[in-house]
Amino acid sequence: MSDILLPKIIGDNIWQIEGPANDLMYLVLGEQKAMLVDTGMGIGNLLLEVRKITSLPLIVINTHGHPDHAGGNGQFPQAWFPMKDFEIMNTMCTNDFRISDIHNIIQAGEEKEACFINALVNYKEIELLPYEYRSEFDLGDRKFTAVEIPGHTPGSMGLYSQNEKILFAGDSIVNSPVWMHIPVSLSLQTYYLFLVHLREVTRGVKTIFTGHLPTLAKPELLDDLISCAHEILKNPGIGEVTNTFAGEGLLWTHGLGNIIYNPKKII
Ligand SMILES: [Zn+2]
Repeated sequence: MSDILLPKIIGDNIWQIEGPANDLMYLVLGEQKAMLVDTGMGIGNLLLEVRKITSLPLIVINTHGHPDHAGGNGQFPQAWFPMKDFEIMNTMCTNDFRISDIHNIIQAGEEKEACFINALVNYKEIELLPYEYRSEFDLGDRKFTAVEIPGHTPGSMGLYSQNEKILFAGDSIVNSPVWMHIPVSLSLQTYYLFLVHLREVTRGVKTIFTGHLPTLAKPELLDDLISCAHEILKNPGIGEVTNTFAGEGLLWTHGLGNIIYNPKKII
């Protein structure tokens, strides 16, 4: 299958690379270096796709440890990684775990599923370079600073360009519901407080690149997620019961913002 990964230019030297497991990676080209944000589920040859686009030295960064964001790390010698998510990655990025995820997420039928599993990048230990809040990634003419957005996972990070006013937000800000009901997620209050902090440190942000499609969100999405979380904190238990392959939660919506949360993990 030659069309497993779908690259598409979506900004100023910014590519999105869509994988078949609802996974989404970004490639940002600078003058001296390129930055790959997330490595997806690890289905197909991501390194080849990147090399079709650029021959620049590559900085690989994981926004968090989930298998649809760090699952393709095995193709690269090293990746910058938020170490609070190390256990999550170590458990969930294995071949077996990702194969079961492919089955749960894609539901494409046996033949396609076998194709994807055949194209799965082997899990292997690579060099992990720890990064944290305020770590900087310099591509030459463009620079990104790490911002912490824990909640969805303990280590979840974003990458912000102060000059360009753009933010890569991983799964902490998505147009589809933010998953705060999963076993590894932190309390809703923690997520809320860090969203408020994020709004302060990214004040003036123009475009948010989300961890899943549809991407290119406006800053209003961040405002609405803050309002959504605040309403849940004021009235825990609101919302409709929703089922996902990762478990059940309550779905609450405010404007563009949707959160699935666990009513037992509010504070
Ligand atoms: Zn995630």
